[in-house]
Amino acid sequence: MNSDTTKPTILIVDDLPMNIKLLGDSLKSSYRVRLATSGPKALAIAGSGNPPDLILLDIVMPGMDGYEVCRQLKARRSTRNIPIIFITAKDQEKDETMGLEIGAVDYITKPFSLPIVNARIRTHLELKRHRDILENLSTLDGLTGVPNRRTFDERLSMEWRRAIRESTFLALLMVDIDHFKAFNDNYGHLAGDDCLKLVARSLAAAVKRPGDYFARYGGEEFACILPQTDLGGIGHLAESMLACIETLHIPHRYSSVADHVTISVGGACLLPTAPADVNVLIEAADRCLYEAKKEGRNRQRAIDISLPLRRVGTR
Ligand code: GH3
Ligand code: MG
Ligand code: MG
Repeated sequence: MNSDTTKPTILIVDDLPMNIKLLGDSLKSSYRVRLATSGPKALAIAGSGNPPDLILLDIVMPGMDGYEVCRQLKARRSTRNIPIIFITAKDQEKDETMGLEIGAVDYITKPFSLPIVNARIRTHLELKRHRDILENLSTLDGLTGVPNRRTFDERLSMEWRRAIRESTFLALLMVDIDHFKAFNDNYGHLAGDDCLKLVARSLAAAVKRPGDYFARYGGEEFACILPQTDLGGIGHLAESMLACIETLHIPHRYSSVADHVTISVGGACLLPTAPADVNVLIEAADRCLYEAKKEGRNRQRAIDISLPLRRVGTR
């Protein structure tokens, strides 16, 4: 094993240490190799914050067998896309069919040829790399690298339904760069793009809770979904976003607000109820953003719209 983080990581799962050693030794010059001698250990490593890029999985193991490990990996969103290659002594057609049907990308029988195992690993890692690129293209904004509007809309309606189910607060922040047209007109579109990238990175870093979701809403607008967050929470995050952009101190001589780039933030929260539509939250945050602009920009305004909505729900 080695610590080269640029190499793909391969997790080998086999209850027999001798099998693991043979495979591990042949792979460690090209890959970071991690080892697990049982199903539960494999699941723990795959589900960690640092998952492997590919898994070589034995089938016959005491306790949890490889099929079950595969099923559990495929059932979880966070591990679903890790390619699994079964590597096993079970050489019957029905075993292989089963392995491929439950989601493995390949099936290699023992005794195996090391060059063939290596070639198949390379192929599947390459396929995964391409799938990841496509996934990123469809979910991330091309300029700033943060989630795009499409994934934001999906996430917001998911969080809306969850908040109704669990009777919890849901909050939304809308962020808009102040006098950005003047920035573009005077410094040029490329400088504008660079500014957007810096602002996006800085705002994304200000969002700390794991359930929060930050995205580019369009143009020079960003939005953030904050589950289980009330007015106090909104104020806290909005203030730290204002402070982050202040710290960036990107010069903007053509702003009437300051000598550097600033943002305005509008926020809204509520306890959603079924008859209401998620658009009430977006519209309320938008209205607050408009107020923040009108009152001088470089500030935040937020509202709790729970009470009027509760009345709608009981009428
Ligand atoms: P306000 O303070 O009221 O928000 O004024 P503003 O000038 O920021 O708002 P306005 O909506 O008039 O202008 C937004 C500008 O954002 C216009 C457009 O040129 C710029 N913009 C939108 N998307 C992009 C982008 O992807 N790259 C660059 N460089 N500029 C963009
Ligand atoms: Mg705007
Ligand atoms: Mg603007």
